[in-house]
Amino acid sequence: MDTLFLVKIGELVLKGGNRKDFERRLRDELKHRLRGLSARIQTGVGRWFVECDPERDADVQAVLATIPGIYAYARATRTGKTFDEIAIAAREAARSRVEAGGRTFKVEARRSDKSFPLDSYGISRELGARLLADFPGLSVDVHAPDFTVRVEIRDRAYVYSGDEAGQKGLPVGSSGKGLLLLSGGIDSPVAGYRMALRGLSLEAVYFHAYPYTSREAWEKVRDLARILARYAGRVTLHTVPFTEPQLAIKRNAPENCATLFMRAGMFTIADRIASSIGANCLITGESLGQVASQTAENLRFTEAFAKLPVLRPLIGTDKEDTIALARRIGSYETSILPYEDCCVIFSPAHPLLRADMARETEAYEKAALGPLLDEAFKNTERLVIDPRQ
Ligand code: ATP
Ligand code: MG
Repeated sequence: MDTLFLVKIGELVLKGGNRKDFERRLRDELKHRLRGLSARIQTGVGRWFVECDPERDADVQAVLATIPGIYAYARATRTGKTFDEIAIAAREAARSRVEAGGRTFKVEARRSDKSFPLDSYGISRELGARLLADFPGLSVDVHAPDFTVRVEIRDRAYVYSGDEAGQKGLPVGSSGKGLLLLSGGIDSPVAGYRMALRGLSLEAVYFHAYPYTSREAWEKVRDLARILARYAGRVTLHTVPFTEPQLAIKRNAPENCATLFMRAGMFTIADRIASSIGANCLITGESLGQVASQTAENLRFTEAFAKLPVLRPLIGTDKEDTIALARRIGSYETSILPYEDCCVIFSPAHPLLRADMARETEAYEKAALGPLLDEAFKNTERLVIDPRQ
């Protein structure tokens, strides 16, 4: 028998007029991600169903668990709408939970087909009684049960126990596209993930100062982009050859401004890439006060080099919380690999803490980075990363 997943659609039901567009995007993305797994998608109001061959069940589950816009999902049994058929399915659902050590339970029923002879309360009560008879030693706890058996009476009856949480959020692309400044650090992949859940499709840009930063450093960024693609769908990684601008900054700029100017150069190029790919914002992993370049004054200086809004989802997030999220999404182990990124190598010992717009703008102009930035932009390389790779 095929595996059936009941899928709960997240924020979508709340979105009134936009709902149709969001559902279409989620369905298209789901279709794309499930291609080749011979899964069938059936959409409905607030509930979708995905059916697949049991052999593909883990792959399908991995998609449901990572794609933005899904609130929760569960393996379900579909039965006819008679009480006996429902009770048999409920017994099977309860059996696996009892075998896993569950001792207390409750039944939750929903009935969108009002012609079903029992109302929700009646279904819960009758089914509860059956399950108590089926499993001696089991008892009801309506407040904090070990497990819940759920029944939904719709076109057919659906029985399941054990919701798995989805990512929630909005489907990819419903907020347009963002260009993520992706370094090899802990923060930027998490920032990209957070914005992907707000409905941005992602492209990423990495500034590579080869040979000061190694081939391995680039591979690490590519691997992080692959991890992001599990959630965000296809990600194009733009690699900007940034050695010449870096060296020019070192030569021509006051030492304490090196990081600040490097970031101004990054924003200049990122903004151009963003316009060329139709992105509506830049995304960074910056967090207020974490390092010298992330004071409000310095953020103001650097973002003046971008015309698009700069989104910084981690601006108020504690590093420990960012690390916890990095672990959860699976990027942490890659982020902590030792290869240095270019910021670290070219960092001044005593970076400027509070940029003065007039003074630093003058020094930046003197560094004459323009032609080098043009050249770096022109020589940017692209790599498309598909989540199904
Ligand atoms: P991360 O852990 O994301 O590297 P961080 O705390 O190390 O962040 P910085 O290195 O100062 O902070 O960088 C701040 C942000 O600037 C990063 O989150 C990222 O968005 C961007 N950034 C820094 N270096 C690069 C790079 N080489 N290529 C692309 N983006 C970068
Ligand atoms: Mg960094």
